[in-house]
Amino acid sequence: MTFVVEKELMADCLFCKIIRGEIPSKKAYEDDKVYAFHDIRPGAPKHILIIPKKHISGVNTASAEDAGIIGYSHLVAAKLAREHNIEESGYRTVYNVGPDSGQSVFHLHLHLLGGRRMAWPPG
Ligand code: 5GP
Ligand code: ZN
Repeated sequence: MTFVVEKELMADCLFCKIIRGEIPSKKAYEDDKVYAFHDIRPGAPKHILIIPKKHISGVNTASAEDAGIIGYSHLVAAKLAREHNIEESGYRTVYNVGPDSGQSVFHLHLHLLGGRRMAWPPG
């Protein structure tokens, strides 16, 4: 049953469609575990989304077996920051979770933002 529900979610999910190439995206990195691509509405000069190839709806529904991919996504963010020359200037990695954060896509995605000075706390 859970498997069937997962299958339906993956068929409809925007980011699963991007992974499958059904919706075009500007790829930044890919391996067997993650796909990274440039955000369509960048919030900073560099704005990349790093997503697991496995459909996980968000941090709230992640399980212990997803701990590896959550940690690994940050290492990919650091590698991309290096490649995009924002390692020294600095950057921010963000998971938006739920309504107050403004989360709009329910497939886990780590935002990597950089290339400009950012305010803290975020708006
Ligand atoms: P959230 O608001 O859920 O944390 O982040 C979703 C992000 O996905 C937003 O920054 C939004 O601009 C981006 N996004 C939504 N649809 C698409 C799309 O079709 N292609 C790309 N590249 N980014 C998208
Ligand atoms: Zn998905």
